Amino acid sequence: MFQKLICFVYINYYYKMNLISTLLSKFTKEKKKEKPSEKSIIRQKIRQKKGLIADAEKEKQVSLVFEKIEALPEFINAETIMMYWSMPDELSTHNFIIKWSKKKQILLPVVKDDVMLVKPFLSKEELTQGSYGIWEPSVQNEFVNKIDLVIVPGIAFDKFKCRLGRGKGYYDRYFMINRITKIGIGYDFQLLDRVPTTQTDIKMDMIITAYRTIS
Ligand code: ADP
Ligand code: MG
Repeated sequence: MFQKLICFVYINYYYKMNLISTLLSKFTKEKKKEKPSEKSIIRQKIRQKKGLIADAEKEKQVSLVFEKIEALPEFINAETIMMYWSMPDELSTHNFIIKWSKKKQILLPVVKDDVMLVKPFLSKEELTQGSYGIWEPSVQNEFVNKIDLVIVPGIAFDKFKCRLGRGKGYYDRYFMINRITKIGIGYDFQLLDRVPTTQTDIKMDMIITAYRTIS
């Protein structure tokens, strides 16, 4: 009788422990397989759309965006403008920068030790490839004076002037410290009804695409 009782208790204990360990392993496995965030889903969708737009349409949209920018008082009155030297998948800025660098002080971001700082653009030839394959000025000196305007790249923007970047938060951290007029630019399909935001996301002052302006 006593032996049977011991045996019963042991079997019961064995099954309970087994059940707990199965549940635990299921839970940890599910935690490892994290759901992609809302932000990363949008980044992925925009990447797909970029592949579908024809080169001629891209060029047309680039011209229209910069025509609008050239007509803005914020641009006309600005002496120092921070831009971005576009990557192949971004709205192209190269011609615009080369053209305007003769008349205004154009600045470009440089990522150093995980912080974004700003250096003057002198010429295309002077740029060297830095973090993430982005071309950056190689001049020694950081630009520390007043910046009048920033033209900001983005993966997506929305009608509330929110911006979704590549997911590193460099511009959010930069704009938290440096209060400058910010114009987000992109292809028209990059302007969505809404992009997901978190507390640290900094809003733009204006969004310009070829066919729409949000201000
Ligand atoms: P992006 O703006 O490039 O789309 P996210 O907004 O997703 O990227 O931000 C990327 C990471 O950087 C997030 O973990 C975010 O919390 C962090 N981050 C952004 N801004 C700040 C800030 N001002 N201070 C601390 N962390 C920040
Ligand atoms: Mg952000």
